[in-house]
Amino acid sequence: MPGSSGFAPVLASSLIGPAFLLVAVAVAGGIFFRRAQQLYRFVRLGQPVDRLDVVLAQRKLLQRPGPGLMHALIFWGFIVLLTTIVEAFAEVFQPSFAIPLFGRSAWLGLVQDAFSVLVIIAIGMALYYRKVQRPERFKGSHLEEADFILAMIFGIMLTLLFLNAARIALGINESPAAWTPVSNAIAPLFRHMGHDAQGFFERLFLWAHILLILGFLAYIPYSKHLHIFVSEPNVFFANTKARGRLRPLHIDLDQLDSGDVRLGAATVEDLTWKELLDLYSCTECGRCQSVCPAWNTGKPLSPKLIVMNLRDHLFEVGPGLVAARRAGQETEKQPLNPDVVEDEVVWDCVTCGACMQECPVDIEHIDHIVDMRRNLVMGESRFPAEAGTLLRNLESSSNPWGQPQSARADWAKDLEVPVLEDGQAPEYLYWVGCAGSFDDRAKKISQAVVRVLQRAGVPFAILGPRELCNGDPARRIGNEYLYQELARQNVKTLTEIGARKIVVNCPHCFNTIRNEYPDFGGRFEVVHHTELFESLIRQGRLQPTGEVRELLAYHDPCYLGRHNGIYDAPRSVLGQIPGLSSVELPRHRERSFCCGAGGARMWLEEHLGKRINLERTEEAISTGASAMGVACPYCLIMLDDGARAKGEVIKVLDVAQVLEAATGAGADGGPPPAAGPSTP
Ligand code: SF4
Ligand code: SF4
Repeated sequence: MPGSSGFAPVLASSLIGPAFLLVAVAVAGGIFFRRAQQLYRFVRLGQPVDRLDVVLAQRKLLQRPGPGLMHALIFWGFIVLLTTIVEAFAEVFQPSFAIPLFGRSAWLGLVQDAFSVLVIIAIGMALYYRKVQRPERFKGSHLEEADFILAMIFGIMLTLLFLNAARIALGINESPAAWTPVSNAIAPLFRHMGHDAQGFFERLFLWAHILLILGFLAYIPYSKHLHIFVSEPNVFFANTKARGRLRPLHIDLDQLDSGDVRLGAATVEDLTWKELLDLYSCTECGRCQSVCPAWNTGKPLSPKLIVMNLRDHLFEVGPGLVAARRAGQETEKQPLNPDVVEDEVVWDCVTCGACMQECPVDIEHIDHIVDMRRNLVMGESRFPAEAGTLLRNLESSSNPWGQPQSARADWAKDLEVPVLEDGQAPEYLYWVGCAGSFDDRAKKISQAVVRVLQRAGVPFAILGPRELCNGDPARRIGNEYLYQELARQNVKTLTEIGARKIVVNCPHCFNTIRNEYPDFGGRFEVVHHTELFESLIRQGRLQPTGEVRELLAYHDPCYLGRHNGIYDAPRSVLGQIPGLSSVELPRHRERSFCCGAGGARMWLEEHLGKRINLERTEEAISTGASAMGVACPYCLIMLDDGARAKGEVIKVLDVAQVLEAATGAGADGGPPPAAGPSTP
């Protein structure tokens, strides 16, 4: 048959490409799905947790403009260039393939061309950050692997541009050449070649592009840069409840003896599935580490290294655990502490939430840390000696100071404060908190709050001895059982007196009663004293007319600001004080730096590095301020300690004390006093 001798080779060559592609896709896809299945099984090792109230979009990607833009360009570049991947694969089977509706359109060509270049620019930015700037936050990250991945992405973009350029030279370009200006600018490289050579390079770049994409697909799930696929689902399942709320632990006392009760995270299997998904999602960007007060003051805790170490451990023990679970066998348990995360690291955390605020992929570091603390305290009775004193005081006296409950209202003597012994609460119940009841410096805040409320004519009462510690220190040190006992008793008391509105001056009480008591049946309207004061001033019930001549730097307490989003009310009140000028601390609002007291660290010694309160006090002094403003008794105590250590060159005042002086509600209406003497 004429021509039949040439038909077979043409047919063979037209089949080799598709067949090779099918084999390559099967190999890369097989590697990818095998690993994806394994990673899914690892996550299934975790404990259940309800995360159905989901969120969309990467809200925090652009928090740091430069690196955020770089990541956004790469992410959106990949989304746009999915169209080129579809085209490249389909064209192996059918050279004239076009995506239905918009394939071969001029605008698609322009968008693809532009994003190829933008991604290359983003890679340049990434290299600049890593190789030139070398920020400290990358310490401990796997940078060589990141370089390799950037090189792969660069290769994918470059082969795409050269593929399009070769097609323009061949005259088989999909979009008009003028609409793909970058590819068009490269095309002259091929124009001097013969048609066969142009065809060769067109195929070469097509296959290089395809193989790089498949290599990328197979490599990433095995690399530490798994986050490329997992960070979006992790953001999707992020906590939508208040950041300051901790997940309650179900403790069934009847099962304690059977040893079948999980008291926090002793092993990796005790973490929840979301905590395990967090581990896959870490980009190793180190933003969390760069803001962590513990890391910044020379302590071993790095939230990034906690996540990375837990992830490495999961990858190491995961296959054995999955196999044992499928075979119904027991395996030897490897403890997380100290094998994977040292005890000291777990205790260093002040639960300030700075790491979670910064993390672009919504990793919830505090959950991991508190779960490990729960196991150390309740499962193993292993904790710093000072924590033992704190817990004993809470158990025996229902307050961290170990003072008798009968003395709880002593601070209010001579102030004519109604103590609610029985009956119903008036409009406001003033929840004083333990610091405001027992610490001499913090008592001055309680007294200032009372005088201001009386001056504004607000009906209120206190609970006196019936108010117990809200439980925050017990919960955050890891004793969930003791916390739940205190929480249930307080919810019962508040319900009995029919509390409707509760005003607090302690952000830890605020966070616990507002965000955590609902888990125990207590739903109350809780306001911080700065919010109530702001509202009273707006209503004209308080008129700050007395001058307070200070230059004041306001310090955002972590549990008021980052954990509960209250930044404006204290500033608004301070802004109404005649004579008072304000200066912002370098680290303020969402980026505020902890005073060192959160996470029950108020009662623990800092054995390593610089004291956190000193670091913050020095920051305030550097602004030239004459006073530091606070809205939290813990902050007042810690920063006043810092100010004393620095020779009292700066005062520390709660917003209530400043307002008390300005409204003439103080003893003489004069300038606000410095915080009083320390309580041992
Ligand atoms: S909560 Fe604060 S102290 Fe704890 S790891 Fe995060 S940044 Fe560090
Ligand atoms: S935990 Fe979040 S902020 Fe920290 S290194 Fe990982 S991705 Fe970055």
